[in-house]
Amino acid sequence: MYSEIVSFVRSYYNEPQAFIPLHEPRFVGNDRKYVLDAIDSTFVSSVGKYVDQFEDMVKDYTGANYAVATVNGTAALHMSLMLAGVKSNELVITQSLSFIATCNAISYIGAEPVFVDVDKQNLGLSTDALRDFLQAECTINNKNCYHTQTGKRVAAVVPMHTFGHPVEIDKMLEICQQFHLPLVEDSAESMGSYFKGKHTGTFGDFGAFSFNGNKTITCGGGGIIVTNNEKHAKLAKHLTTQAKIPHRWNFEHDHIGYNYRMPNLNAALACAQIELLDAFLESKRKLAMQYAILFKELPAKFVEEPMYAKSNYWLNAILFSDKTQRDEFLTYSNDHQVMTRPAWQLMHRLDMFKEALKGPLTESEKIADTLVNLPSSVLIKDILIQEQ
Ligand SMILES: *Cc1c(COP(=O)(O)O)cnc(C)c1O
Repeated sequence: MYSEIVSFVRSYYNEPQAFIPLHEPRFVGNDRKYVLDAIDSTFVSSVGKYVDQFEDMVKDYTGANYAVATVNGTAALHMSLMLAGVKSNELVITQSLSFIATCNAISYIGAEPVFVDVDKQNLGLSTDALRDFLQAECTINNKNCYHTQTGKRVAAVVPMHTFGHPVEIDKMLEICQQFHLPLVEDSAESMGSYFKGKHTGTFGDFGAFSFNGNKTITCGGGGIIVTNNEKHAKLAKHLTTQAKIPHRWNFEHDHIGYNYRMPNLNAALACAQIELLDAFLESKRKLAMQYAILFKELPAKFVEEPMYAKSNYWLNAILFSDKTQRDEFLTYSNDHQVMTRPAWQLMHRLDMFKEALKGPLTESEKIADTLVNLPSSVLIKDILIQEQ
């Protein structure tokens, strides 16, 4: 089986020998043109037309009313959590199966993550596990949710759309409303993913996206906050620009602010990338469909998009039946210059979060032991377009 997978990847990328990375960015559109234009304009930093333009493009693309570009996805999460009202010593419910940025953003506030299990179909926060945890361990008092045993306030819920596969966000929103909890979607991996036709990140109070080098579209480093709340959007823009009161020459600030704005240079690249997003998505879907066919014949399970969703298939994933097989395949594929990798170390196993509160994490543990991500880059010939 291992050699069949490796040969499939090599033939798909038409790469008989060379190293095949997990996810490579593609710059075949207006990338150079816009970046050079930003340089020529001298506006490379936090002021410039590309920042506004990119925010408008993301609003159009996702259907969100407001978008505020940030320096990276972690900053977008940090700012979203602050604006959602999370304070130090409070609790934020999230998944243990995630990239560390989610927990880092929670920690920057001095809040603590609480880990709830993931769903075995979509690999993101499980609505059942969330409901069970809240019903069993929490109490509502005066429209606030408290963890009964510690008395700490539960301040937000942060599901993550793992590898681009949307969680059951409609049910999750209902549960959050019932327990008076703000919902922040860690949509870092889900640009171009839809839940029942509506873009991920637009269901909760905030959605945070990332445009890091390995994401579906990239601007080197970058992120964006989307929200439908005008007040939140204005505050996000204000606080991410050092809370400076706009004025032609005075430097006045009315808050502790952050230098979290996306530079215009990055925004130029981001504009070029989002122009090609639909072409990227089409190419990624073609590859995913081919993986799905391949794994029908093999004893590993390909992770498909949930029935209710359209995934961007950012990183393709398979689940082996046990950890030994998983480890054998990781060794075999990487020895053969085809990059594959396991899921992230579970957050509750890291030193910093091992004391964190948690519910049962059976699925998270099982997935973490058996999952492998497969090469998922867009095929260049799929996205080559007419002369610009
Ligand atoms: C990529 C990612 C982020 C944000 O990452 P940045 O590198 O700061 O842009 C946050 N959460 C998850 C789950 C991610 O995969």
